Amino acid sequence: MTSVDLLIIGCGLAGSAIAWQAHRRGMSIAIADRNERQSCSMVAAGLVTPITGSRAAASWEWDLFFSESSQFYPWIEEQLQGRFWYREPATRVFLSEMERTQFEKKWFSKSSPGPTTPTALPMENASLSGIHAPWGGCSMSPAARLDTSAYLSKTREFFKNREAYYECDVDCDSIVDNGSQIQLASIGISAGALVLCQGVESRKNRWFSELPLHPARGDILTLEKPPHVQIERVLHHDVWVVPTIDGNLKIGATYDRHTLDGIVDNRPDVLSWKAELLRRWEGVFSGAIQNTVVLDHQAAVRPASYDRHPLIGRHLASSRVFCLNGLGSKGTLMAPALARILLSTILNGDALPPQLDWQRPLRKFKKT
Ligand SMILES: Cc1cc2nc3c(=O)[nH]c(=O)nc-3n(C[C@H](O)[C@H](O)[C@H](O)COP(=O)(O)OP(=O)(O)OC[C@H]3O[C@@H](n4cnc5c(N)ncnc54)[C@H](O)[C@@H]3O)c2cc1C
Repeated sequence: MTSVDLLIIGCGLAGSAIAWQAHRRGMSIAIADRNERQSCSMVAAGLVTPITGSRAAASWEWDLFFSESSQFYPWIEEQLQGRFWYREPATRVFLSEMERTQFEKKWFSKSSPGPTTPTALPMENASLSGIHAPWGGCSMSPAARLDTSAYLSKTREFFKNREAYYECDVDCDSIVDNGSQIQLASIGISAGALVLCQGVESRKNRWFSELPLHPARGDILTLEKPPHVQIERVLHHDVWVVPTIDGNLKIGATYDRHTLDGIVDNRPDVLSWKAELLRRWEGVFSGAIQNTVVLDHQAAVRPASYDRHPLIGRHLASSRVFCLNGLGSKGTLMAPALARILLSTILNGDALPPQLDWQRPLRKFKKT
């Protein structure tokens, strides 16, 4: 058996964050993933947004998470000589008078922000031309977008070249904790600790099947950019619109707690989500938009939790087994700091902040 410090199952946003944080500390790792094209992290738009929701609230623990992710991804870009982290302001169009008033009260009068403090500046009408924006809009910063598929593909290649990445479907029930080592015979690995980063798949094996996940499917469309449409940066309207590197647009995302799979077919629910996204897309513009060409329709299930906070920590019975999960809609923003915090627990036994610990009491928890 090859012996490593850390065995990681799942190489989505969670698994790759812990792999990089461990690599950065000089630890030896093995990471296994079954390389699905449509995993949640592969499908994600990778948006990092400072102010979210109709109440115009700052994203939860923004300073902690953004200060880590805004250093983490550029550092990986350096390691991989690649580009996948795009830090630039995002536009938010107000959808009601009330929303505009919320922003005015909460954000427009704020001054002297620190480097990571969220800011929202009112936008001139001219910069929203062509966009349906009767209540105006604002420019939010700092904001960013991770090209998740480029980041994950390059990450997997990096660890593969170091013989640390295994493309396989792991039978997690066959993983043994013998009291001093974790062993996964199918790939010949023994490890000092195991971190399961399986997203919603964690419910299918014995280790973390009791994790209080409250999953939600999301659908996303890739559209051919109509020639007259000028959208240069991320736009939050009734849908978000993301210009992609290849000159197309992504729009999304839906939130469905009933159809809990990532299959895109002709079921009525799936067709209605597609129609809904297209309807909202048409509402983005002040004029009519014709001949929208849909290039792709993707979907995946977000590993969300009941209180929308992450679920990380130690297994109840096996002290060498941990999970990094519950990233919900904010995996890009939260994964790097969560991976660092979890690693401190694994290496030094540091206590986890209670609001991150998967064992915290959750009022509304009910297994779905
Ligand atoms: C439509 C949509 C849009 C989204 N947009 C955004 C966004 O803009 N910004 C943002 O931050 N987040 C977004 N998200 C959420 C984001 O995708 C999640 O927070 C994140 O991907 C969760 O990452 P994860 O690594 O925990 O899980 P996953 O991405 O599900 O990764 C789990 C990995 O483990 C592997 N795996 C599981 N079991 C096994 C096994 N037994 N053997 C081998 N491999 C295994 C899977 O193949 C997978 O690669 C979006 C999600 C959806 C669905």
